[in-house]
Amino acid sequence: MTGKADLHIHTTCSDGRLTPVEAVSLAAGTGLKAVSITDHDTYEGFRLAESTAKELGIELIPGMEITAVFEQKECHILAYYFDPELDFMQYFVLKQRNERRKRIKIIIGILKENGIDLTYEEVRAVSNGANIGRPHVAKVLIEKGYAASIRDAFMRYLSTEKLGQVDAAYPEAEEAIRLIKKAGGAAVIAHPGRFYTLSQVDKLVAYGADGIECVHPSHKWEYQLKYTEYCDSNALLKTGGSDYHGGLTGARSQVGVVTTAYKNVVKMKRMTDQRKKLSTLK
Ligand code: AMP
Ligand code: MN
Ligand code: MN
Ligand code: MN
Repeated sequence: MTGKADLHIHTTCSDGRLTPVEAVSLAAGTGLKAVSITDHDTYEGFRLAESTAKELGIELIPGMEITAVFEQKECHILAYYFDPELDFMQYFVLKQRNERRKRIKIIIGILKENGIDLTYEEVRAVSNGANIGRPHVAKVLIEKGYAASIRDAFMRYLSTEKLGQVDAAYPEAEEAIRLIKKAGGAAVIAHPGRFYTLSQVDKLVAYGADGIECVHPSHKWEYQLKYTEYCDSNALLKTGGSDYHGGLTGARSQVGVVTTAYKNVVKMKRMTDQRKKLSTLK
């Protein structure tokens, strides 16, 4: 059970720079044993890269980074090993796609009120069929000379501090966790170090979260240690990954550098297999 896995990668299906095939090829080239494409609110990348992963001998795990709401703020829940064919999962991603569009239209409206000249059509064109997000708005702001980089665009215009809370009908975290589990998957709290206190993590675990992303480029060593210990003493799954965006949204980590042990993937697979078996027995 040796080997490593990168369980957090973005592609052109959301705000990453590489296509799913390119991302999986890159991961295979670094010698990783398993990889998961976890685009924002879509798992389209899984199907697009499935055959490449088989050819290259790397395990591709169904994944997605769900945008949800926790204590009135947006949060991210990672989903793994869910059944991508289920109707309600397909319906869910369609709904999220729509909510993301509506939210970007509201954001563009706020920017316009502040004298910034940009249109939804321009942002849609840049997104090139991807699940739209603020990094696509940032790209247009750069093209039009309003910002020097994506990071700069976030600092000047797109951060929550600048925009205020933009309400979108994203699910509550509790609801997202329930949905993932109903689809036979594992629900994992994404990069908690950046966002939560330990008591907030307790709350998400009480909602039914199965694990924590202990290893993430934003996590200082102490966070990694704290969450690893938390998982071990609460019988939770441990995951980790690079949150690779291909340089599109600022320096994070390269694929194959920030990883989790493959044995954690095996545990997650075993747990979700069991979950799927139990749900067919019902
Ligand atoms: P959205 O999906 O519209 O909520 O946009 C969030 C995405 O923007 C995140 O997943 C990151 O990829 C990116 N992002 C968030 N904050 C920053 C930042 N300060 N600098 C660069 N990229 C960012
Ligand atoms: Mn992103
Ligand atoms: Mn995230
Ligand atoms: Mn991410």
